[in-house]
Amino acid sequence: MTSMVSTHLPILLWILVSFLFGFIGEERGLKYWKTFLISLFLTPIVGYIYIHKNGTKQQIVKQTNQNIKKKKHVPTWKCPECGEENPRGTHICSSCGNDLMA
Ligand SMILES: [Zn+2]
Repeated sequence: MTSMVSTHLPILLWILVSFLFGFIGEERGLKYWKTFLISLFLTPIVGYIYIHKNGTKQQIVKQTNQNIKKKKHVPTWKCPECGEENPRGTHICSSCGNDLMA
């Protein structure tokens, strides 16, 4: 019985990883079944390379979108001299050059 488990577990993991890569591929604009079958028949390593080579562009777009969103939520503090909103942590006002840490 134990030998049954030990021989079937890697195959199960292989299939699970292939499914997972299918999902990741789909998320990056690739065909779910294509990514899944590549991982299943050509090893998950090839599936990973496939996702990495063909799905990177969308991932970069996603990351830049996230960065833009993050920038919008940056807390600001108002310059007491000119009223310019500066990102928190800024030492010198970007508008008038007033020392904000003083
Ligand atoms: Zn200022």
